[in-house]
Amino acid sequence: LPKSRPSYEDFRAQKLQSAGNATNERVNATFVTLARNSDIWDIAKSIRTVEDRFNRNYNYDWVFLNDNDFDDDFKKLTTSLVSGTTHYGRIPKDHWSYPEWIDQDKAKEAREEMDRKKIIYGGSESYRHMCRYESGFFFRHPLMMNYEYYWRVEPSIELFCDISTDPFRFMKENGKKYSFVISLYEYYETIPTLWDSVKKFMNNHPEHIPKENAMDFISEDGGETYNKCHFWSNFEIGSLEWLRSKEYIDYFSSLDQDGGFFYERWGDAPVHSIAAAIMLKKEQIHFFNEIAYYHVPFTHCPIEEQTRLDLRCHCKPEENFDWKGYSCTNRWFKVNKMEKPEGWDKND
Ligand code: GDP
Ligand code: MN
Repeated sequence: LPKSRPSYEDFRAQKLQSAGNATNERVNATFVTLARNSDIWDIAKSIRTVEDRFNRNYNYDWVFLNDNDFDDDFKKLTTSLVSGTTHYGRIPKDHWSYPEWIDQDKAKEAREEMDRKKIIYGGSESYRHMCRYESGFFFRHPLMMNYEYYWRVEPSIELFCDISTDPFRFMKENGKKYSFVISLYEYYETIPTLWDSVKKFMNNHPEHIPKENAMDFISEDGGETYNKCHFWSNFEIGSLEWLRSKEYIDYFSSLDQDGGFFYERWGDAPVHSIAAAIMLKKEQIHFFNEIAYYHVPFTHCPIEEQTRLDLRCHCKPEENFDWKGYSCTNRWFKVNKMEKPEGWDKND
């Protein structure tokens, strides 16, 4: 980082110089967004924040996926905002529909019951297809096949700090496969039998479960029960090759067979998180403290003042979620014997 702030003239010159012409070498990676045409203005905000804080210096590609065709308005606006190359893909029908072994009447009854109980998205059919798609399919869409890493971006997110080093490069050079900025407890009603399903998978595939995994993050009793901790998957930077590996596909297929994406409301966040925690080595999972992030209703904001000044952050440290009671990041630090930042105990 420059020691003093560049002048407006310097800044403008630098920006003109880098426009449409990456000044930094890229790794083989892309942003990826699942969206509907109606998400246009909310995704525009997200793209703007990602470009301003990072991608204008790198010009990484951006892949947009949809269960329908994107319309021209969506494509024009997003292409104008993204500094890299944009790609638009339609999701194949069989990746966004019921597998033949699902009893659709039973699924409908489950939705009605969860709707009566006022469980968030409990009555929604499309939300379930979305969660199943993000859990098992986005990384094998033809447009994604040539990339090694992805960064998932949802509508209406915010980034609050400059991203001064390329997170994709960091992942690649350090052998990281999955990363997060916010973690929390899952709403039990959405996943009552998920852990049974995971245990069945682990029994059938002990060869996929390395001893050095992060089981301690998601279980307090060595894997007997799930403590509901998960990484919040609306932000993810991860390895596509890991998601396309035999281990991950065996895991997803086994869970999918059990039907909980439809008979319950399994989210892609616990599904990805559990996979990472049981099948990766602990050190392959990374917490990006420097990526300050908001997705309604939670914020990750570095509480270290020097970090915030160096990275020109504009988030309020009091809003940082990491050390609040409903966050699991405390547990992540504990099981990894990581040192918490000064003042963490005053930040809850
Ligand atoms: P939440 O963050 O859990 O409240 O869920 P969102 O409404 O943000 O949905 C998660 C992601 O999936 C976002 O990127 C949405 O744009 C996308 N999404 C949700 N439902 C659909 C859908 O039916 N079709 C498409 N194409 N995208 C969807
Ligand atoms: Mn969202």
